[in-house]
Amino acid sequence: MSEFFDRLSEALTSTGKNVGDKAKAKSDEVKLLYKVGTEKKALEMIYTEIGKAYYEAYKDEPVEEVAALVSEATIKAAEIAAIEDQIRTIKGVYVCPNCGADIPLEYDFCGKCGTKAERPEPAPVAEAEAEVKEDTVDIKVEVDPDEPSTNN
Ligand SMILES: [Zn+2]
Repeated sequence: MSEFFDRLSEALTSTGKNVGDKAKAKSDEVKLLYKVGTEKKALEMIYTEIGKAYYEAYKDEPVEEVAALVSEATIKAAEIAAIEDQIRTIKGVYVCPNCGADIPLEYDFCGKCGTKAERPEPAPVAEAEAEVKEDTVDIKVEVDPDEPSTNN
């Protein structure tokens, strides 16, 4: 009987040790997964910096392998600039040519750096609205289900 309990005790201890080992392994795995996630994010940021530096240096004559991406980046930057223009129009501000701060249209001086700035000519409203619809923002249009689709 005592031998039975000895063996049982041994088995339980061994099981407990395995559970402990497994818990430690799991905890190590979680720590390492976190670490590798952090390192991957850091690497992504480095790649992004390399990409930006490359774009600034070679956007006019990129190597063939990245020419399409460079062209996409140029288009995207132009789209962003157009949207930012629209936002400034809505806010009633223009950009300081010196520091890039917003200047209210009623002022001739930058409130941030003091530069005397030239107000832009006000853009015709209809044109600005047409630009919003055509170029810059993807708007999902609700289609009347009864209306025949042009795709059919
Ligand atoms: Zn300024």
